[in-house]
Amino acid sequence: MPNSKLIDQYNRHLNYLRVSITDSCNLQCMYCVPQDLLTRLSHEEILTYEEILRIVTVAIRLGVTKVRVTGGEPLVRKDVYDFLAELAQIPGLSDVSLTTNGVFLKDNIEKIRSAGISRINISLDTLSREKFQKITGRDAFDQVWQGIEMAQSMGFAPIKLNIVALNGVNDDELEDMARLSFSFPFHIRFIEYMPIGQSRMGNGPLLLVPEIKKRISGLGNLLPVQNSKNDGPAKRYQFEGAEGEIGFIPALSQHFCDKCNRLRLTASGQLRPCLLSDYQEDVKGPLRSGCSDQEVAQIFLKAVHHKPSDHNLAGHNVIRVCGEMRAIGG
Ligand code: SAM
Repeated sequence: MPNSKLIDQYNRHLNYLRVSITDSCNLQCMYCVPQDLLTRLSHEEILTYEEILRIVTVAIRLGVTKVRVTGGEPLVRKDVYDFLAELAQIPGLSDVSLTTNGVFLKDNIEKIRSAGISRINISLDTLSREKFQKITGRDAFDQVWQGIEMAQSMGFAPIKLNIVALNGVNDDELEDMARLSFSFPFHIRFIEYMPIGQSRMGNGPLLLVPEIKKRISGLGNLLPVQNSKNDGPAKRYQFEGAEGEIGFIPALSQHFCDKCNRLRLTASGQLRPCLLSDYQEDVKGPLRSGCSDQEVAQIFLKAVHHKPSDHNLAGHNVIRVCGEMRAIGG
């Protein structure tokens, strides 16, 4: 990134923008949805696709090369496939990917591929149909699994399955999830639960990566895999003889802030330089007041300047961040 202007005070090059296109979701995951009454952004509060595309275009000029579309559930937003196609065609992006809960994957996989998306992350916290319903509030495990199979048969690669590891909820399935990597080329990624927003999770002990590793160690030798340029924070491994990979996202136990290359654009048009900090810069207001691309660029530079050195949430000393994952995008 020789011409990047998005370099923060700690010399991190921020070339990765995660864009939440909606705070709406068709699932109500227990670790994501607030315990109190759900407040939704109104249609007017959410960035239009045109606004998002303009912001992304400015971000690319500043040095962003990688964009992930997330939510809420991105596939619930109207006309999302046209938006994805427009996004993927913006010159300067080397990587456009999607994070989804997979419920609408089966029926729309062709449209996703035609839009130019080749990499998908799918959230799947359990392999049990009953538990899926308990975690998400919806009986949709079969639909999601069929979507995953269809994505695989259509050549999406890698397909990453995101599992938020939760004590007392899916901790009895860690081995089963990891075992999938022997029969499928999937990247199975165990994510530490992060205390964001007012979810329905209590303040009990967290299931952290060292414990997860211990619990799946009976499956074989976990060999480290060399990280590649476009890799995120996951520490990559592979069981000897497995087709797929295992990844760990130790957001709390061993945070990766020193390597963080991310900025986040929320559904309501706020630019957040750190997922676990409430600092944000408003882009939508200035945009709707008629500001120039140059002024949007200045907002990016200000947010980058304020990116904290680290998130300060060490292991068990957890505080809650006020923003909600649905609007920030995970
Ligand atoms: N609806 C999409 C999905 O389910 O993948 C995209 C949005 S979701 C907010 C993005 C990712 O954030 C998912 O992988 C989800 O499991 C993860 N996530 C949500 N709340 C979390 C939390 N409190 N801690 C860790 N990961 C979380």
